[in-house]
Amino acid sequence: MVVLQHGTFLINSACHTIGRQPYSTRCSARDSFFLALFTFGEGYHNYHHEFQHDYRNGVKPWQWDPTKWLIWILSRLGLTNGLRRVPQEAIYSTEARVRQKLRRESEGRSKEPVNASDPAEKSKIDYIGHRLIAE
Ligand SMILES: [Zn+2]
Repeated sequence: MVVLQHGTFLINSACHTIGRQPYSTRCSARDSFFLALFTFGEGYHNYHHEFQHDYRNGVKPWQWDPTKWLIWILSRLGLTNGLRRVPQEAIYSTEARVRQKLRRESEGRSKEPVNASDPAEKSKIDYIGHRLIAE
């Protein structure tokens, strides 16, 4: 009971801090296998925030999400119905869009103009200059 309660409270603290953001960067929610272990799958919280109407949290076959398996079994037994899923193509395209956005942001950061009179920026110039020479 104590573990279950702590797992539940972890969702809205650690699941917004630890992990990756494969589906959305609009909020701080993150996906983490480690946290999914303690939260019965809710650790795939980034997916949950982006596709809230999907009954699953861990949508990849290898992702630990016992809650989705229980819900699916209950549907097979006729105890629940109308399970909603996001089409696979929509999941893939969302992942690709976020990957592209993060790649663009990281490329933009390394090319952004710097102010040479600012000491903090000066060290960035030195770093960038060093990296360019090293490459
Ligand atoms: Zn959340």
